[in-house]
Amino acid sequence: MNIPEIFAENVFNHEVMKSRLPKNIYKALLKTINNGAAMDMTTADIVANTIKDWAVEKGATHYTHWFQPLTGSTAEKHDSFISTTPSGNAIMEFSGKELVKGEPDASSFPSGGLRQTSTARGYTAWDPTSYCFVKEGSLYIPTVFVSYTGEILDKKTPLLRSMDALSRSAVRFLRLFGNDRVTRVTSTVGAEQEYFLIDKKMYDQREDLILTDRTLFGANPPKGQELDDQYFANLKPRIAEYMADLDVELWKLGIYSKTKHNEVAPAQHEMAPIFTTSNLGTDQNELAMEVMKKVALRHGLVCLLHEKPFKGVNGSGKHNNWSMSTDDGQNLLDPGDTPMENLQFLTILCALIKGVDEYADLMRISAASAGNDHRLGADEAPPAIISMFLGEELDAVLKAIEEDGVYKTQTSTFEIGINALPSFPKDSTDRNRTSPFAFTGNRFEFRMVGSSDNIACPNALLNTIVAEELSWFADSLESFKGSDNFESEVKKLLKDVLKKHRRIIFNGDGYSPEWIQEAERRGLPNYASTVDCLPHYTDEKNVRIFRKFNIYTPNELKARTEVLLETYSKTIRIEARTMVEMARRKLLPAALDYISCVCRSISVKKQIGMTCNSEEKIAAKLNALADSFYDSIERLESQLESACKINDIRKQAEYFHDYVLAEMDIMRSVADEIEMNMPCDKWPIPTYTAMIYNI
Ligand code: ADP
Ligand code: MG
Repeated sequence: MNIPEIFAENVFNHEVMKSRLPKNIYKALLKTINNGAAMDMTTADIVANTIKDWAVEKGATHYTHWFQPLTGSTAEKHDSFISTTPSGNAIMEFSGKELVKGEPDASSFPSGGLRQTSTARGYTAWDPTSYCFVKEGSLYIPTVFVSYTGEILDKKTPLLRSMDALSRSAVRFLRLFGNDRVTRVTSTVGAEQEYFLIDKKMYDQREDLILTDRTLFGANPPKGQELDDQYFANLKPRIAEYMADLDVELWKLGIYSKTKHNEVAPAQHEMAPIFTTSNLGTDQNELAMEVMKKVALRHGLVCLLHEKPFKGVNGSGKHNNWSMSTDDGQNLLDPGDTPMENLQFLTILCALIKGVDEYADLMRISAASAGNDHRLGADEAPPAIISMFLGEELDAVLKAIEEDGVYKTQTSTFEIGINALPSFPKDSTDRNRTSPFAFTGNRFEFRMVGSSDNIACPNALLNTIVAEELSWFADSLESFKGSDNFESEVKKLLKDVLKKHRRIIFNGDGYSPEWIQEAERRGLPNYASTVDCLPHYTDEKNVRIFRKFNIYTPNELKARTEVLLETYSKTIRIEARTMVEMARRKLLPAALDYISCVCRSISVKKQIGMTCNSEEKIAAKLNALADSFYDSIERLESQLESACKINDIRKQAEYFHDYVLAEMDIMRSVADEIEMNMPCDKWPIPTYTAMIYNI
């Protein structure tokens, strides 16, 4: 296979733009892409027509504005290119207006009360900074989605706004350090995507997987991941074929799928792409998740993206690798080799330390969902407490700054008089898999994000936080720019910042119970669940930075919080209903059937004078379990009813968390015990062993 040849063959990327568009039009488009310059209609018409011709050659008959509403998935509505001619024939047409703006009747998308059904109009607007692509006979046009009155209704707009905010602050910041060339700083992301693959035939037998993407029942298999024999293990043939097929499909769509391997849990795998801009990275991750699911079906498999599809088995995350690049190709989180670059790097590092400490709640919120709640804090996942891992060497450098001390490497000793700052090796320390936000040499890896999450939100929040801190440093240091004491003033400031915010740095084991106590002592927030953290979205300090950088208005922020809380409640409601349905109509009848079968055997055996010790014990045990199972079903149903009667969105979510979810746990443990006491062939749904080992 010739990878460079197939790579991005279905993408209208820069190369295609350049080769297909007239020179002046290409230049105008570049201006729009790079500087956000408005595009006149004549230019838009030519661009649209060119894209259409290209798409039709690729087999497209339709186009769709593709957007990312607050539902958590992508949305599309397809229109054909068809137009009528006076003679009654059809021609393929596509105008600039159709490219630039769409008007989906959007009343069915969540808006958190920002849009009533009576004013249902929503607009999609072309986002030229991402690429159009062709898939399944349609031209996909990445767009943002806003309401008639201009409120944002999607996940992409805040991301794009945050990228602008970050760029402005970062450019201003870089000027302090004598960098006059850079005009744009772009946030970058490489999202490592974890997923599970199971056989479609088993999936089809489980309503919980079909309706909720996770198993609501299921006893643990005798063998879990304790032998650590899954991570990086060689690939089973069926999995290898899937991954090969997936790579090709992703490459065609211009997604730089680079790394693939087995993950820690049985049946768990990972795909990591090469990083790109946050904007493109977000679109590509959404697309990758869709393609992963579709390709799986071709192989008789189902790809599960839920954060915790199997209880007691590692969950899936999406390691969000984040950094910033300048338009002259510098990675701002690269420590660099010279003292001045070092100073700039250390200041950026301190800006991140300050930001993550001050806005730890936002970081936590950016990864909050009902699904991810099962993961954070359990097994291999990072804990729900936000902290930063820097590694020993960087930590030592920062300590030296703080204490006016000396920094020692193995070979030499440096006075920390900034000028003499050492160039330190990038990979100077071990990795820390337990940290939610870890420095990995030239980027930060945010590991809290859930596997099914859209990464727009975490990246938008991260960008906004960093925009705020870089502009704070610029405010504090601008008056010293170019002066002799600039370096000493920077050093003084870093020292202050570190004194105040060092508490967020933690290089130890984030899974240990001691860390929870230590974090509490340090005053770090520990929001165990989505309902604990979401209300802080609208805390005054958060409202302030979102407003300052024009990311969300207070109204938009309130609406978003409500949508997230509602989604939380709805998710648990669906899960609870699914449990009740499976329990009443499948699991309990199976248990009762078996009990009566055992009882029949007892009565037959007794008639001919045989002993029935084991049968009697089994029947009694299962009968008691079935009784408590029945009671639990009744309780869960009545709690569901009470929950649905609560009008206040926050109180309702809390009720779902405190009562419904708690009862679901009880019910599950009873069911799992019943399963362990039933013959395999009498249990009506596939077992964990069958699902995760039988691929
Ligand atoms: P690891 O297992 O070490 O975390 P992977 O190769 O699985 O490594 O993933 C690392 C991810 O980080 C890749 O997606 C990679 O492209 C991404 N990455 C590397 N450099 C940057 C950067 N400057 N900005 C954002 N992401 C980056
Ligand atoms: Mg990683």
